[in-house]
Amino acid sequence: MEFETLQQFKKAVRKFNINLGRSIFFPKIDSTRCKAICYDENCPWQIYCAKRSCLVSYQVKTFVNEHTCPRNLHCKSANGKWVVDELEEKIRNQPDMTVKDAENYFRTEFDVLVNERKIYRSMATARERIEGSEAAQYLRLRDYSNEILKINPGSTVRIHTSPMPGLESFLFKRIYVCLSACKRGFVEGCRPFIGLDGTFLRGYYGGQLLTAIGADANNHIFPIAYAIVESENKDSWKWFLELLQDDVGDHAANGFNLMSDMQKGLIPAVKDIMPGAHHRFCAMHIYHNFRKQWLDLEMKAAMWACSKATTPQEFELAMGRVKRINQHAWEYLNKIFPQQWSRSHFSEYLKVDFYTNNNCETFNGKIKKMRGKPIITMLEEVRGYVMRILARNKKALVGYHGRITLCNKAVWKGTKKRATIGGHSHPVIKMGMSMRFKGYM
Ligand SMILES: [Zn+2]
Repeated sequence: MEFETLQQFKKAVRKFNINLGRSIFFPKIDSTRCKAICYDENCPWQIYCAKRSCLVSYQVKTFVNEHTCPRNLHCKSANGKWVVDELEEKIRNQPDMTVKDAENYFRTEFDVLVNERKIYRSMATARERIEGSEAAQYLRLRDYSNEILKINPGSTVRIHTSPMPGLESFLFKRIYVCLSACKRGFVEGCRPFIGLDGTFLRGYYGGQLLTAIGADANNHIFPIAYAIVESENKDSWKWFLELLQDDVGDHAANGFNLMSDMQKGLIPAVKDIMPGAHHRFCAMHIYHNFRKQWLDLEMKAAMWACSKATTPQEFELAMGRVKRINQHAWEYLNKIFPQQWSRSHFSEYLKVDFYTNNNCETFNGKIKKMRGKPIITMLEEVRGYVMRILARNKKALVGYHGRITLCNKAVWKGTKKRATIGGHSHPVIKMGMSMRFKGYM
């Protein structure tokens, strides 16, 4: 077992023993070695770690993992510093945590009883640390944006602030990031399809992360731009869409099709900034609202048949079925334009027949753990994830010379098979080539 530093070793040993309900301490030796022994003089438990001679790491040399002492609910190893460290990590993800929540957390996670006053004091210290470290990162945002522009020429980073009345400083409101590789990759190699979504941030200062995600030739997700805003509303979506349009080009000239949930602020923002753009709504989102009133499996199948229909005739048949089962459900679905949720009425120009906003959902799912971190740490981790996606997807297609990309080939084979065995499905991937779709196929 190896550790990078002795602090790391001590932290791991302490946590290990707190989980066991045993108290240990670290008698002082020197800066290259560390030892931990049990508080109970008669207990043989001990561990010894020392620096490796040729490497910059520390290795466990002796480990007697046997406690003969009894388990103790008031573990001495769970000292004030440890409680503050644990609470700091917890409060970052759960800013509204109460003393009671913290007490339950220590009892259920570690089986340790921590005094209420100790928790109260530790929470105050942890909050001070978080506020200090998180606030400090906001002060470095300009530097961060300059660094991105320096190492990724051609990228766009915009920071939006508002003046504070009576003060010379400004209040941070929003940041938008569109990396050069994402911008160029989308414009030159992707279909004109943009998925939009917003997800809440779990950090100390809250906020929302807005994302614009495209699809590459192989139907994999292709991140275009992301932004952190104060909340999801018409104004913040308008700000995001304006910047996005500046980066990827005019929606009308490029025939962009948008896909989103039915967010209140987003729909009017799209009408203002991209008037006339095809705007699809995620069928899964429509279904989630639909099933609040009509929960049975027959209605579920009937609703999805409408969304998955590939011809107007098939759509009419599916809607007819909904009407026969339940007139009110039909009236509900009939209010939504078929161009917004059924494959049968989607624009054929872009050769994308997605009827759910899965690209955005996948992206948001992957960055879930990053959403509770301080702003620059989070932006950096998201940037790292975007880079990994692009590199992985590029690797999958390097050296591939088929006429149809791998994923589409699999879909094409499946639909052809269904067609030959007499099913109702029609080939769903239109095999023509989009004007913008130069890279593959
Ligand atoms: Zn012991």
